[in-house]
Amino acid sequence: MPEIRQLSPSVINKIAAGEVIERPASVVKELMENSVDAGATRVDVTVSQGGTESIRIVDNGCGIRPDQMLLAIASHATSKIEDAEDLFNVETLGFRGEALASIAEVSQMTVRSCADGATEGAELEINGGNAEPVKPCGCPVGTSIEVRNLFFNTPVRRRFMKANQTEMGHITEAFTRLALVHPNVHFKLQHNGRVTQDLPAADNWKDRIAHFYGKDLADALIWVESEGDGIRVSGFVADPVFNRSHTRMQYLFLNGRHIRDRSLQHALGEAYRGLLLTGRYPIAFLKLDMPANLVDVNVHPTKLEVRFQDARKLYSQLLSTIRNKFLSTDLTARVHEHSERTDAGGASAGSVERPQDLGLSYPRSDASSIGAGNQYSGSGAGQFVGTSPMVPAENYRLPESFQRALDSSNLPATSERLDVNPAAADVPAQLPISTLGLQVHNRYLVTQDESGMLVIDQHALHERVLYEQLREKVLAGELETQRLLVPEPVSMSGPEAAAAVEHKALFKKIGIELEPFGGDTILVSSYPAMLRRVRPAELIRQLIDEIMVGEKKPDRRDVLDELLHMMSCKAAVKAGDPLTPEEIHSLLMQRHLFHDTHHCPHGRPTALVFTREELDRRFERT
Ligand code: ADP
Ligand code: MG
Repeated sequence: MPEIRQLSPSVINKIAAGEVIERPASVVKELMENSVDAGATRVDVTVSQGGTESIRIVDNGCGIRPDQMLLAIASHATSKIEDAEDLFNVETLGFRGEALASIAEVSQMTVRSCADGATEGAELEINGGNAEPVKPCGCPVGTSIEVRNLFFNTPVRRRFMKANQTEMGHITEAFTRLALVHPNVHFKLQHNGRVTQDLPAADNWKDRIAHFYGKDLADALIWVESEGDGIRVSGFVADPVFNRSHTRMQYLFLNGRHIRDRSLQHALGEAYRGLLLTGRYPIAFLKLDMPANLVDVNVHPTKLEVRFQDARKLYSQLLSTIRNKFLSTDLTARVHEHSERTDAGGASAGSVERPQDLGLSYPRSDASSIGAGNQYSGSGAGQFVGTSPMVPAENYRLPESFQRALDSSNLPATSERLDVNPAAADVPAQLPISTLGLQVHNRYLVTQDESGMLVIDQHALHERVLYEQLREKVLAGELETQRLLVPEPVSMSGPEAAAAVEHKALFKKIGIELEPFGGDTILVSSYPAMLRRVRPAELIRQLIDEIMVGEKKPDRRDVLDELLHMMSCKAAVKAGDPLTPEEIHSLLMQRHLFHDTHHCPHGRPTALVFTREELDRRFERT
């Protein structure tokens, strides 16, 4: 019979610490939250070696009295709640009284604090949970906590820490989450002696967001708000033109606390339904404020997940708030204004087309005419190529905003758009039958080959063709680039800018030359000619995103290849783009130039084949 023993307090605390303190970023989160709870208006976070060596957090909050110092680091000791009732009315970030105890257990920690109104401060040293006597010390009002050698006495945890750079990434994310929702506090983050974030108090939430993610994104944010039954939803959602390949930029704050909630993320996705391509996710910064008794925050050790009393109602409130806003917002007009402002701001044209104009200069009457009929009743193969108005235009009209989002490169139709293959271009009238094509619903091409009838997804095929061309050119070092007469500044977040500069050589390979330009701005000085229709700013942000995400994937594929995929997807015609006869012809011709054009680079099929036998059988001819 194994013997049952009572565990020692030290072992109990280590187990508890394991739940709350997972990695250096957890320390940063807990200590920053304590500073905010203490009413600090200034919080300085100083980290060395990704937090594995030391983390110091200094605030100007209310401080801790000398006689309370030992209690502060005791487990289940807190000044924030008193009885179980209070658990349902939590209005501070902390309330469990476990963080300091847990951190103290698995590190070497120094706490220095001077309470508001006190004449003298106090200092406390704790080594792996063992506290020295409290000593008086001189210090300004507020608290400074230094945590050294995290997990020095829990070797398994220590081994589980990742490279400093990765740990620093998590710290930056924890810092960002808190700093985003408390714009009135001055936060500063330093790593290995370098200031990576310095965010003076802002009286405006948007300014704080701009500080992190750049002015372009902040300018494209749309304010949404609603209130019902004591629940208030408010914040910003981004214009669909700004989107990501992941959901990490969907920030939800419940009563000032960052949370993750799959159901609410789903509601957000639903609100953007039809506005984003598959695999792309909206960007949002949303606050949910409700009486504390409508939510249980005590279900997750790090309080990342919560339980709402009426999750369904909240889901529909969020969904309808955003949907109603979109229905009453002319997204096209908004972006127009935005681009004009950008232009006035001096980002002037280079030798390529002005990128801001590209997605936006489509005449409005055209933009709303998706599926409204054949715009090209032209000559040559025209009667075969193009859409016949099968459905009255009214039935097909989508809101302009939806149309624009489906079709972010909605250019005036020119034969230049598809880079018409010269070999194919000079045979417009006498087409061999195999290259005739009919465009239906502005998104599929119907054609035939020896075996039967093909229905081709125009976006998927063009993407595939561009990918093959790009890859060939990049591998041969023959990608045509265009030097911009006036380099284009692109504002981004600090980590994004750093990643861009770090991967300068990779960008050069794909025809993009960039330089740091002070602050978090980079300057783009040359750009692939092939991508002249895609805005450099948004493309580069997405490429960086891909690089940053790619680096974290264990089964990391060739980054260059990923980037080529993304570029070809961006540059390809979209579903919803009406094509001219020449464009259809050119696209179908190029289909034969590559081996595997049956699938787009994402692996989706580009064409469905209906064999003659199949057609015969369906029509009961056999
Ligand atoms: P909790 O935040 O859940 O109360 P902690 O272990 O994080 O638990 O902190 C314990 C207590 O120590 C807090 O309730 C608070 O009274 C005090 N404390 C911790 N950090 C600070 C700080 N930076 N300024 C003032 N008081 C603090
Ligand atoms: Mg706390």
